[in-house]
Amino acid sequence: MEASETKFRICPFCEATCGLAVEMRGREVVRVRGDDDDVFSHGFVCPKGAALADLDTDPDRLRTPLVRRNGELVEATWDEAFAEVERRLLPIIQAHGNDAVAVYLGNPTAHKIDLTLYGQVLIKGLRTRNIFSASTVDQIPKQLASGLMFGGYLSVAVPDIDRTDYLLVLGANPFDSNGSLWTVPDFPGRLRALRQRGGRCVVVDPRRTRTAQAADEHVFLRPATDVHFLAAIVHTLQQEDLIDLGRLAAHCNGIQTLDGLFADFSPEAVGVHCGVPAASIRRIARELAGAERAAVYARIGTCTQSFGTTVSWLVDLCNVLTGNLDREGGAMFPRAAAFAANTRGRPGVGRGVRTGRRHSRVRNAPEVMGELPVACLAEEIETPGDGQIRALFTVAGNPVLSTPNGERLDRALAGLDFMVSLDIYLNETTRHADVIFPGLSVLEEAHFDVAFPQLSYRNAARYSAPLVDPPADRPHEWQTLLRLAGIVMGRARTPTSTRSTTSSSPRRFRARLPTSTRTCSTATRRSCSSPYGRGAAPHGWSTSRCAPAHMATPSVPTPMGFRSPCSRRIRTVSISARSNRACPRCCAPLRARSNSPPICWSATWSGSALRCTPITPVATCA
Ligand code: SF4
Repeated sequence: MEASETKFRICPFCEATCGLAVEMRGREVVRVRGDDDDVFSHGFVCPKGAALADLDTDPDRLRTPLVRRNGELVEATWDEAFAEVERRLLPIIQAHGNDAVAVYLGNPTAHKIDLTLYGQVLIKGLRTRNIFSASTVDQIPKQLASGLMFGGYLSVAVPDIDRTDYLLVLGANPFDSNGSLWTVPDFPGRLRALRQRGGRCVVVDPRRTRTAQAADEHVFLRPATDVHFLAAIVHTLQQEDLIDLGRLAAHCNGIQTLDGLFADFSPEAVGVHCGVPAASIRRIARELAGAERAAVYARIGTCTQSFGTTVSWLVDLCNVLTGNLDREGGAMFPRAAAFAANTRGRPGVGRGVRTGRRHSRVRNAPEVMGELPVACLAEEIETPGDGQIRALFTVAGNPVLSTPNGERLDRALAGLDFMVSLDIYLNETTRHADVIFPGLSVLEEAHFDVAFPQLSYRNAARYSAPLVDPPADRPHEWQTLLRLAGIVMGRARTPTSTRSTTSSSPRRFRARLPTSTRTCSTATRRSCSSPYGRGAAPHGWSTSRCAPAHMATPSVPTPMGFRSPCSRRIRTVSISARSNRACPRCCAPLRARSNSPPICWSATWSGSALRCTPITPVATCA
């Protein structure tokens, strides 16, 4: 029997991004457990992560493109599927303009680097105002509040749970979720540790969640009254002279505008409305102010209500007024190794965020983060007139199930002229598609989290190489997205091979992309399979393989060997062919121990330096 070997990868299923140790025999997964040596999750795993193999072997997972013929979705070749998109979509764009095509990005686009980075290429190529995503269902209020307060939509302060003494949680259940807009694997263990060291956790929630059960205190309040509860907390802080900005005073603008703002929100005035005794509100305000180190955290329950943005602002206002923002044991800003607004530019300098630069056609809803609320999607499809949505791309999403009034959206999708989906399943949404492009198996994909290090309880950067090679005839999702982008941009001729996508007219294709250019350090490498060709590349893209340039340039603190989702072969060669190389960030020498490539790298911040640690015993960072 073939010997098994343990490989390592990051779990892609939720925000916790746990490190997994995957025991494999050939292509078969024998066992999945938490990786005890993972620098971030330290061995934690949940049943979803342990079921990684089930997704790989699921017979329902799509492996071949589907194209609608005579009303039925039937299997097709990749070229046939791309050709169908070209044949059906371009006439719609020519007749009705780019806004006639909408894009919906599902939740996995935040979990998969291919979709995160290359979904934007499709959007840019489409040049449509009709962009929707799962974010507007539950999290935009928090991001809007963070953007307005701190200047960036991903400048989200998260509790430093391992060092805090007091944690106030509203409308969130991290015991089950392991964090939302807060990447914190093994929340149950961390909550236990908080309580064991004498800390206190108070949960304010209309439901007795598992987080509430595990906390020191559960305060029931009426649904959607969090805004009154927090306003009463601020009122108490002001009235009882409990405000202590500390060093934050030098960074706060307009703090005096709060004077009198909460005068009407005394605990006695709002307690009846909230269903919380006034004495409890006052006591919690005093506990929050009196704790050595404290943090307030709120999530989905506070965002999916009328005052979601105001509640999100009040959460961080409480953190500010008690001096707990941006300090150890308080609510801190993660510093991701790459793609991070928190680590770019000069402090205090920037334009801030802008919203409402355009509005939805039917109900005049403003955009935020470049997106319109997905609750508008159905009416934008159904309502005739200029700008009506007639075609739709969905990327890894099932909005019929996950968005408000899914039944209406279900009916609306049936009325589209054309629909394309990138998805590994035929589901309630993709069943309406005319063409479906499947992605790869979770075992066949490289992994690097772009979004979640911006929200992590600790700074870490980890990369996982694919555990197995994908079938030769099946493209990566980034390749599919690039070809779709090429089609919608009028570069209709697609190559016949899915793996070799050399452009027949790279100059024309490039000219329609953003004009800012950058030369990538990998520009001279061979084996380019991108449609861009070589030479100067559009901003943010390398020239050799259409990889994001900022991941390929040596100035970026990414783990040794990580260049791009598509450079696995390059990395393998460079690591195994050179026995001694230095980590580009911490400068520690790397020594290859065998000819096989490293599978997975972890890196953690140590002061201002990034320390790289190989997870496999192939090479070591001395
Ligand atoms: S908590 Fe999330 S990341 Fe961790 S194993 Fe479970 S599904 Fe995967």
